[in-house]
Amino acid sequence: MGRIYLDWNATAPLRAEAMATMVETLALTGNPSSIHAEGRAALSRIDTARCEVAGLVNASEAAVIFTSGATEAIATALTPHWRIAGEMKLVSRALIGATEHAAVLAGGRFPEGARERLGVDVRGLLDLAALESRLAATPAPALVAVQAANNETGVLQPIAEIAALVHAHGCIFACDAVQAAGRMPLDIMALGADALMLSGHKLGGPQGTGALVLRSETTAPAQALIAGGGQEMGRRAGTEAVAAIAGFGTAAELAAAERGEIAARLLGLRQMLETELVRRVPDAVILGRNVPRLPNTTMVGLDGAPAATLLMALDLSGFAISSGSACSSGKVKRSHVLDAMGIERSLAESAIRVSLGRDTSETDLLRFAEGFEKAAKCLYRRASAA
Ligand code: PLP
Repeated sequence: MGRIYLDWNATAPLRAEAMATMVETLALTGNPSSIHAEGRAALSRIDTARCEVAGLVNASEAAVIFTSGATEAIATALTPHWRIAGEMKLVSRALIGATEHAAVLAGGRFPEGARERLGVDVRGLLDLAALESRLAATPAPALVAVQAANNETGVLQPIAEIAALVHAHGCIFACDAVQAAGRMPLDIMALGADALMLSGHKLGGPQGTGALVLRSETTAPAQALIAGGGQEMGRRAGTEAVAAIAGFGTAAELAAAERGEIAARLLGLRQMLETELVRRVPDAVILGRNVPRLPNTTMVGLDGAPAATLLMALDLSGFAISSGSACSSGKVKRSHVLDAMGIERSLAESAIRVSLGRDTSETDLLRFAEGFEKAAKCLYRRASAA
């Protein structure tokens, strides 16, 4: 039996079409900043990708800034120096959702004393009343950073509502759309976020690509994070990773074209998986079950079965899954997302994330549910024998 990959929120397999674009582009010689024909050919690849990424979120092409990944896009957006409607402003504070990815929690260029956390309720949804009172108490403009979809639980935040509230207080809204892009409709104009941050490798592009997408070119971070040459309209210096950007563009275009159909299929599969997990292991708890979630994400906990042990047992049985909170050392650490939701410690420490993607089949998930049941029984047997 082959291995089954159920960790699409960590990274999605590279799309064959994106790889083909990259291989073709790698063969080109030419610095996109050069004036000659070779340079112009390289620049034209970037322009095509810019158009494709803009299309994914209904932005204008000139508002897409390519970066080395979402982490860099986030660090660029989270700065106290913004130009708002063309005017230089000093942003007083960063108000950051408690369940954000570590890249956002790190706060970008805001000093620690200028950052505040915004709480969520037990379902993982931002407390809008608390946001409103923080906004009322904070000198404008502040910057609010809230994600569209959580990478561990898949919980979706009401982005348009948050954007309206933030703007009513004269503040800026930056939204980490890494997990949402290509999985749910994302229209920067309709959502009203001032900036969206995207990652190429979550939608079938190469790792090490990302973008900061602005709603309006006149409301933008005032200082590049990486200064030097005038690449990316002066907003991100350094010779562009042309082939990687081209691959990101191809993946973005495909993700946009397939989104509706794949999301509907994955939602059906995810519902089947959750029913099956609870049928086989009645003590299993699906976290965030009763709120809007990404169609591809299930976080399941089993009180008393440590996530690290479950992950290892499932890995040995051929399943690639994560605890939402695996850190770069490869160890499993306690989830700040589940902590912020107030999930009981022993349940939180057992939570694992199953994330599906376009290649996932019903058979994969039925086999996973069977593997989960076996691992759970084995852990319980060991615990009761001890
Ligand atoms: N934000 C979220 C919600 C993520 O899931 C990730 C990656 O896991 C990131 C940001 C960082 O993205 P990148 O790997 O492109 O730096």
